[in-house]
Amino acid sequence: MSGTHEDAAISRRVRGLETLLEERGIVAGAVLDEALDAFLAGSSPLNGARVVARAWTDPAFKERLLADGTSAVAELGFAAGGVQPQRLRVVENTVRAHNVVVCTLCSCYPVRLLGPSPSWYKSEAYRSRVVREPRGVLEEFGLSLPDGTEVTVWDSSAETRYMVLPRRPACSAGLSAGELVSLVTRNGLIGTAAL
Ligand code: FE
Repeated sequence: MSGTHEDAAISRRVRGLETLLEERGIVAGAVLDEALDAFLAGSSPLNGARVVARAWTDPAFKERLLADGTSAVAELGFAAGGVQPQRLRVVENTVRAHNVVVCTLCSCYPVRLLGPSPSWYKSEAYRSRVVREPRGVLEEFGLSLPDGTEVTVWDSSAETRYMVLPRRPACSAGLSAGELVSLVTRNGLIGTAAL
């Protein structure tokens, strides 16, 4: 009957292991929830707006932002989260060039800087059509661009996220940093609106 003793010992060990795994699982789950909550609480289009306002008023920062978005936004405390390294590329709108962002594959999006993505961004219609007929889609958003403006569509991926640096409105001279921030809209940061 020595087998019974062995079985009992094994059962105890298995139960102990299960408890341990469960505890670890719960702990890991709670930690993950906490990290996600903190990440979402710190994610807002206000962050992107702050980056833009800084770029409008600080030419050296703007240069760094366009050269290496990831490092430049980290200067303002917006380090990219997540396990996978993510590159942020910031693309500048000018009179001649307009940029618009999409993820044709799924819904990649710089959440930290823009907040949770709008449902249309994730829609099949936007993802497929903005690539084929960007001007038509932008018209539907109420944005009519002059014929001379070149439109570039940037396709996001798991490795690279994009944010648009909108053109500074002509009427914004002399505004405070806070007032500049309030001019920037989420759609302006995606490129489906001008400011
Ligand atoms: Fe995606």
